[in-house]
Amino acid sequence: MKFNTKTIHGGQEHDKAYGAVMPPIYQTSTYAQTTPGGHKGYEYSRTHNPTRNALENSLASIENGTYGLAFGSGLAAIDAVLKLLKPGDEVISTNDLYGGSYRLFTQIFQDFGIKFHFTGMENAAKIESFVNDNTKLIWVETPTNPMMNIIDIEAVSGVAKKHNLLLAVDNTFATPYLQRPLDLGADIVMHSATKYLGGHSDVVMGALIVKDKEIADKLYFIQNASGAVCGPMDSFLVLRGIKTLHIRMQRHCENGKAVAEYLASHPKIEKVYWPGFENHPNHDIAKRQMDDFGGMISFVTKGSSYEDAIKIVEKLRIFTLAESLGGVESLAGHPASMTHASIPKEEREKSGVVDALIRLSVGIEDADDLIKDLEQAIG
Ligand SMILES: *Cc1c(COP(=O)(O)O)cnc(C)c1O
Repeated sequence: MKFNTKTIHGGQEHDKAYGAVMPPIYQTSTYAQTTPGGHKGYEYSRTHNPTRNALENSLASIENGTYGLAFGSGLAAIDAVLKLLKPGDEVISTNDLYGGSYRLFTQIFQDFGIKFHFTGMENAAKIESFVNDNTKLIWVETPTNPMMNIIDIEAVSGVAKKHNLLLAVDNTFATPYLQRPLDLGADIVMHSATKYLGGHSDVVMGALIVKDKEIADKLYFIQNASGAVCGPMDSFLVLRGIKTLHIRMQRHCENGKAVAEYLASHPKIEKVYWPGFENHPNHDIAKRQMDDFGGMISFVTKGSSYEDAIKIVEKLRIFTLAESLGGVESLAGHPASMTHASIPKEEREKSGVVDALIRLSVGIEDADDLIKDLEQAIG
């Protein structure tokens, strides 16, 4: 089955009770038993729920995995991965990282005795310099947020395999429409399904997808034992979102290209960060690893200050000023005052997150309207 068919049919079967074509929302916490242990595979909804299972099967299918697990948020999914570790274990992570992941690593799991090394992952030697006997996991996010750096998953996977480490990839920005980390050697794929998979900015959810049964069994145990699961209604919404993932992503990519090119040609724009440009430092990796370049763009206006950036985001009418990304509607954000405000200015600017940086999640509206909106806001 090809990707565009998998989004709709992958891992799905029609409802056994009445033949409902769409999976029913099994809004129940528990299931009737005829005798203790006499049930139809479902006992309690933290452990299993038919709507969640339908979603989990879809997730496994679109990421070319074998097992899918859905959680109450992206961070709950990352939390479950880290619970595979023990005190004393070490993790090597990308340094240009989603702020919430960084907070979870450094303010929760560090206190439980897990050590984190944050580094750029441009080459294998740099990653290997952090490997020791305690290293257990490599954590990769690509494209990175908000600088749109691209990390070569296959190259990192080479390091992981050589040293027998787990490799987890946060695939939130790319989605399996653009890149499939399990095919490139990753062990675990993670999603904030809140973003492109859900796609309509109406649900918060997380997901993990794996191929290996042993890892899957450990994660299912953690999912049930820690209990950060998502509800049946949210499972239904994300499953519905996934059915249009391919056509939404196609439009996100088309509009992303149009907006990126418009911004790059604008005399008032200093720099546009988008992996589709030939002069993007990681364009070659992006071309090899991704099927297209996505709808996430960051840009800086010439000589612009914190105040100028704020003025632009306030003036936007079709782009909504908001946190998050990946919905049908276009969003704009100001990382220095919003998503990355908790990182000290000096640290932030080292990775390029200057005060004037604006991040766009280009939606699936008409590209002409999006460009006109940017035009009136930038002036
Ligand atoms: C939003 C996001 C997360 C966290 O997911 P939540 O659903 O908000 O918990 C993790 N990684 C990336 C790249 C994200 O964009």
